[in-house]
Amino acid sequence: MTRVPALENPHTHWREGDVVGPLVELAIQGGAIGFGPMPNTKEGLMTAAQVTAYVKNASSFVELGTGVHIIPIVQITEATTEADIDACIEAGIVDAKIYPKGRTTASHNGVSYYSRILPIVQHAGKRGMRVHFHPEHPMKIDNKDAEFLFLPIVDMFLSETDAIIVSEHGTDGRCIPLWEEWAKTGRFFVTITAHHLVENETGAYGDVDAVCKPSYKGEVDRRALNDLVRKDYPWVMAGGDDAPHDKKTKHRIGPCTCGAYTAPFLMQLYAHALDDLFTSPEGVKVFENFTSRNARKLYGFRTSSRYVDLIKRPFIIPESYKIGSWEVAPFWAGREISYSLYANSSVK
Ligand SMILES: [Zn+2]
Repeated sequence: MTRVPALENPHTHWREGDVVGPLVELAIQGGAIGFGPMPNTKEGLMTAAQVTAYVKNASSFVELGTGVHIIPIVQITEATTEADIDACIEAGIVDAKIYPKGRTTASHNGVSYYSRILPIVQHAGKRGMRVHFHPEHPMKIDNKDAEFLFLPIVDMFLSETDAIIVSEHGTDGRCIPLWEEWAKTGRFFVTITAHHLVENETGAYGDVDAVCKPSYKGEVDRRALNDLVRKDYPWVMAGGDDAPHDKKTKHRIGPCTCGAYTAPFLMQLYAHALDDLFTSPEGVKVFENFTSRNARKLYGFRTSSRYVDLIKRPFIIPESYKIGSWEVAPFWAGREISYSLYANSSVK
């Protein structure tokens, strides 16, 4: 058994309506303490008031004294104004997310032309806002190249603004040399999902529950992401992109909704992916940096108040979860992973 700080998950999806409460509870059960709920809800969280109300509602499902912290995140679109950004800063919202229009679930408020938002991102950067990107090009480029061809856009925002840039859910091994270059600025961070560490495009082929954006890449990419985590860079962080969908929209004739739901066993899935790190104290430290410390440092959270016990014991991922009015089939439904959470609420 290995006791590690609870997971910081700065990229989660809590949706809206009657599913929010159960999603929050399952995410905490999955071994996490910190959450960054994404603002691409149906309507989108585009103003300080919308973000504040959303976080307040989500917080109402968190038991007091559990130490859970929620990162408020606003969505920047082509319509965002400097006044919108200023109102966010005043409300304590210092993270913004930008989506490529039409490229992923609920990206209808996304951006088509990134040059148009350069002035607003410059302003956000000056005000100390961290700017997160879903890094896929909005043009009709094949999935396998969409992240690679987004690199010049990230480069533009990094060189033309003062903002801290977070490139979410990295998937493409070809990007890594540039990430390493950009990280030298101290303003560039990457999150990596658990499902992209354990799955590739061949394994996920035909598996509707695994379908997500950005798409899985090849085995070479999967291994490159795994190697990157093991390099123990302070700018590489876990970020679940745990994205639930009702079976009605995921299991249907025609294109399914995109998103892999991993939240209830997310810490276990990261441990399964990074199993070899548990053979030495140095390895465990790398795991802890990736799943907790690096994000805490970026977001200014103090020492974790929650620890979880990972035990190497087979865990069968449930076939489905009843979540409010939804039935959600998770990533790798019915399959076995090598780690269980022994006691998930220990406080140290
Ligand atoms: Zn996401």
